[in-house]
Amino acid sequence: MAMNLVTIADIEKAREAIAGKVARTPMVQSVMLSDRIGVPVWLKLEHRQNTGSFKLRGATNALSQLSQAEKQRGVVAASTGNHGRALAYAAQSEGIRAVICMSRLVPKNKVDEISRLGAEIRIIGKSQDDAQDEAERLVRDDGLIMVPPFDNAHIIAGQGTLGLEIVEDLPDVRAVLVPLSGGGLASGIARAVKAKQANAKVIGVSMQIGAAMHASLAAGRPVLVEETESLADSLGGGIGLDNQFTFWMVRELLDEVILLTEQEIADGIAHAYRYEREVIEGAAAVGIGALLAGKVQAEGPIAIILSGRNIDMDQHKRIISADKAAESTEPCPA
Ligand SMILES: *Cc1c(COP(=O)(O)O)cnc(C)c1O
Repeated sequence: MAMNLVTIADIEKAREAIAGKVARTPMVQSVMLSDRIGVPVWLKLEHRQNTGSFKLRGATNALSQLSQAEKQRGVVAASTGNHGRALAYAAQSEGIRAVICMSRLVPKNKVDEISRLGAEIRIIGKSQDDAQDEAERLVRDDGLIMVPPFDNAHIIAGQGTLGLEIVEDLPDVRAVLVPLSGGGLASGIARAVKAKQANAKVIGVSMQIGAAMHASLAAGRPVLVEETESLADSLGGGIGLDNQFTFWMVRELLDEVILLTEQEIADGIAHAYRYEREVIEGAAAVGIGALLAGKVQAEGPIAIILSGRNIDMDQHKRIISADKAAESTEPCPA
């Protein structure tokens, strides 16, 4: 069923559509993680993308598909933050009106940054579903065009361009660790990576509580999960009971899904800061967290996607300080 949903040709077309509007981010080897795991570990520094996350790839590709008439009507999205931010930025650079709906669970720093990018903000309800209802109302009543955060062919193709870059920079890649929420990122990357390197595994990583895709895979169909607060706030939210694309693609293409505790996510953030000198948000830290926790069974080279950096800096500081206490009981690293 998922065979033809989004193809490698769609992803290659997306790459042309977004060229020059989206950064090609670096891949660097992590000496610390490679030594620790015993196989080469590479980091895709996508948190350095404009707007601070990969979501700009999908949003930019989706806007490139709109007709002139659609561009004049404007776009709307319900977003936990990074998609809204990316859509606001991409719309502003094309001179398109953007309205972003989000729940009260979204951290204040993300809300402020989206409004600074020129989008109109609607804060509504306390779940992603409430925000989604409002976005749908704006489509019905005001004629805006919905640009969903993950369950859309153009979004998936845009995120898939990241997979093309990984295989170009690391042609013999054997495993890719991808943060997994709605599955737009994982679907696009898995399609691209497996088209170019059939031997590579693609492994999704989510938080232990509130992982809607994992629960849906286990149930064999999209299901609802209760939303909970997590350090990986960008991984919150459901996958949609009427999911059209990502559930099927993830089910077909992902080799495994790994779940992490909050402490393991914090360990990923702290490692990235202390040893890689990178500030990343919780959702972006799950790949490193999974490796450090010994939860990854894969051959190397392994590529880890650092998907975003939009973390509240006070929260980041608390995580780093707590880690310092733990560190003093461990031997010094080389
Ligand atoms: C959206 C997001 C994810 C998850 O992407 P999905 O396509 O919803 O699976 C991971 N990391 C960050 C930083 C994000 O913003």
